[in-house]
Amino acid sequence: MSTVRKPITPRPPRRREKVLVILQEQCKQCGLCVEFCPKNVLCLDMSKYNRKGYHPVDACDIDACVNCEFCERICPDMAIFLADREEAREAYEAGALEEGTRIPEFEGEKSKKEAE
Ligand code: SF4
Ligand code: SF4
Repeated sequence: MSTVRKPITPRPPRRREKVLVILQEQCKQCGLCVEFCPKNVLCLDMSKYNRKGYHPVDACDIDACVNCEFCERICPDMAIFLADREEAREAYEAGALEEGTRIPEFEGEKSKKEAE
């Protein structure tokens, strides 16, 4: 057995393949995705009501998302899912998203750029 340790080199940040999309108008505040997200990415936005009168889900820590798809699988209303990054970016930049659709990762990038 070698007694020489391998140098520890930090891994480059992992690029997530997909982006999280939330259809806030379709959310019924059941909280299942919030409860089951293994990285505590999701939360209910108690400051907002959707057209159904519910507080919709939002991403409170999008950087922690690991693309596991648990939220997509568990949501009974198909209000949250992962989408192909490039397709989602095209739709986002073209302003072609339905009202109440949130892509928190892109919104975070936009607000960072605006702050610069
Ligand atoms: S994909 Fe996984 S980590 Fe990301 S928000 Fe959904 S449940 Fe959480
Ligand atoms: S599981 Fe679906 S309906 Fe329930 S809180 Fe999450 S996004 Fe909303």
